[in-house]
Amino acid sequence: MNCIYCKNCVGVERYEFLVETNRKIICKECSVEKKAVGFLDWSHKTAPSLVMVPANAKETIRILDRANRRAR
Ligand SMILES: [Zn+2]
Repeated sequence: MNCIYCKNCVGVERYEFLVETNRKIICKECSVEKKAVGFLDWSHKTAPSLVMVPANAKETIRILDRANRRAR
């Protein structure tokens, strides 16, 4: 589960997310998807899910960020 460009480990959660969405295995650094911000949704306590949010959705990001901090 290494990045196809820099060969760094992309992490299990990102790898599974990329496979599920039929994307190339690319780490965050090499990703060209700079318009999306990833959040770990901890609402399901056993298995957090990666939530991708458009970077221009400022209000959504703010809400998610607050929810994220409250969860920890
Ligand atoms: Zn990489």
